[in-house]
Amino acid sequence: MEQFSFNQFQDQVDEVLIRHKSILDILSKLQESSAKVNRAVAKSVTHCGCIQIHSQKQGIPEDISYSELKNYMSNHVEGYLCDICKEKIEEEISTTIFYITALCNSFNINIDDMLENYASQVKALGKYGLL
Ligand SMILES: [Zn+2]
Repeated sequence: MEQFSFNQFQDQVDEVLIRHKSILDILSKLQESSAKVNRAVAKSVTHCGCIQIHSQKQGIPEDISYSELKNYMSNHVEGYLCDICKEKIEEEISTTIFYITALCNSFNINIDDMLENYASQVKALGKYGLL
């Protein structure tokens, strides 16, 4: 199997995006697809039930160092996505990435270069970057 690359994906998006080529369509489709990611996660909880969300204030001991903080932070998700929910969420995230890629294409932004630059910033800031 050929290695995936964002450059190839970016070219592929450029080839297939015809009907929603306007920046207005891209921005609104991006927002719509992002909302569908949220909806798919919510339906995994409320419709399927394969995961649960138990949200509460993060329980952080007072005497720990910043570098230990990660060990005490919860994502509040319990359980595991079933195959159906995982496939649906992957589909919605992929559609979101499709429109992010289309947005990059609209402004001649190369995704590989952009992410490489961002990864360097994240590496430089490390865990103190507060992302
Ligand atoms: Zn499920």
